[in-house]
Amino acid sequence: MLTSMSLLSSKLGSVPQSPADIARAALHKLTEEALPPTPENYAKAYYEISGTQPPQEKVSNERCTGLLEMIREMLVHMSEKTGSLASDLQTGNREIKQSLEDLCATEEKARIQQLLNSIITATGALNSCVEDTHEDIIASRLTMEHIQEEMKETRQWLQEDTLTGAQNRRGMDMALTREIARAKRNKTSLSMAMLDIDHFKRINDKHGHDAGDAMLVHLSTVIKSVMREADVLVRYGGEEFLIVLPDSDIRGANFVIDRLRQVIQKSPMIYEGKRIEATFSGGLAQLKPDENGHSLLLRADKALYEAKQSGRNRFKIAE
Ligand code: GH3
Ligand code: MG
Ligand code: MG
Repeated sequence: MLTSMSLLSSKLGSVPQSPADIARAALHKLTEEALPPTPENYAKAYYEISGTQPPQEKVSNERCTGLLEMIREMLVHMSEKTGSLASDLQTGNREIKQSLEDLCATEEKARIQQLLNSIITATGALNSCVEDTHEDIIASRLTMEHIQEEMKETRQWLQEDTLTGAQNRRGMDMALTREIARAKRNKTSLSMAMLDIDHFKRINDKHGHDAGDAMLVHLSTVIKSVMREADVLVRYGGEEFLIVLPDSDIRGANFVIDRLRQVIQKSPMIYEGKRIEATFSGGLAQLKPDENGHSLLLRADKALYEAKQSGRNRFKIAE
């Protein structure tokens, strides 16, 4: 039995190179192996045939450039393919029309037979040409979906902190811009809470850097458990977190922080069998009309500084 590679190679005379070729070979492979064309099966076949590796955690400019190049090649291939389909259809139609005209004008049986045969041949050729293009379009659509999925993952990776899974500063910029615009458009409130672990350096010094890391993961898990779905958690710096709270005024933000305190007290971190306690300080601020994200951040940060200055393990509300 022909494998998808040999099938395609025999068709193209070489190993598949372009994304559309690889996509087509991947489709053949799924058909041959009687596998349903789910995105997972398709992606697996695609990587096997292309000889490339599925994306790992590392994201680079190279990968983004590679994806864009794939899209470009795919579009070139599709425009060539549809261009040649249009010209084949035109030629086929012309041939069929001519044969039909000749057919009407003739009474000779053998000649009628011959004309009918050429009409059948031309129709068959058109049919296989359309089928080929249809298959190509399906393959291209699957590749596009696959590229779209990769781009989504790439975008997420670029915006996420690897240790805690919270948004990084880049993710924060996107979220703040989006949420402030939404709050202004819908005339709703928006608040933020800037948190900083108290004496975190002591935790590192006493229990080791890994315990410190585990504390950061623990705290972000607890924060996520008290957040609503629309809230955004950002790792703003080493042991500093920011929670963006859309649709919340200061009272709402206070409520979230109170809940966070309760949950943290009830679920301290247990690291290597040891209970490690930590407190945190915070600054809360509510977006003013005509205020931008930068100014809101500065006010929350100033309130956090005041909370630290007045003894830690407390919250201050920005003026
Ligand atoms: P304060 O109450 O004033 O906030 O004191 P602090 O000790 O928390 O603050 P300081 O800024 O003096 O120290 C922050 C420490 O956080 C120092 C740095 O080593 C540690 N840190 C920053 N990022 C990480 C990280 O990713 N993992 C670990 N384990 N420690 C980190
Ligand atoms: Mg600190
Ligand atoms: Mg700090």
